[in-house]
Amino acid sequence: MLNDCVFCAIAAGEIPSTKVYEDENVFAFRDINPQAPVHILVIPKTHVTGVSTITEENSGLVARCFEAIAKIAAQEKLEKGFRVISNCGHDAGQTVMHLHFHILAGVNMGEKIL
Ligand code: 5GP
Ligand code: ZN
Repeated sequence: MLNDCVFCAIAAGEIPSTKVYEDENVFAFRDINPQAPVHILVIPKTHVTGVSTITEENSGLVARCFEAIAKIAAQEKLEKGFRVISNCGHDAGQTVMHLHFHILAGVNMGEKIL
């Protein structure tokens, strides 16, 4: 392992996960501690710490992640809707310092903040 990043290790297959989707740039897997009936994490295979370190040079990774999210939503039949969240930094509760997007679905979240 080149670094201590758990999500780099998951993307590389060094730590097992329940894979939902994979392409050249993106890996998606089920959250180990789901906060909704459907809780999927979508990550770029390239290590980026989070939203605050997105730049002109690496923002294509964000586009690739959202292209994947649209495909995953269709694949997982989330036609009733879903929420996409990215926590960035301490006060947001980010615990893994590798950019990731949570897909939450399977429950009506209409009245909730998160
Ligand atoms: P954060 O709090 O940083 O936005 O989200 C990190 C998420 O990663 C949490 O929801 C946590 O449950 C999930 N997570 C942390 N370690 C692992 C792991 O080893 N495997 C899986 N599948 N999910 C993990
Ligand atoms: Zn990483």
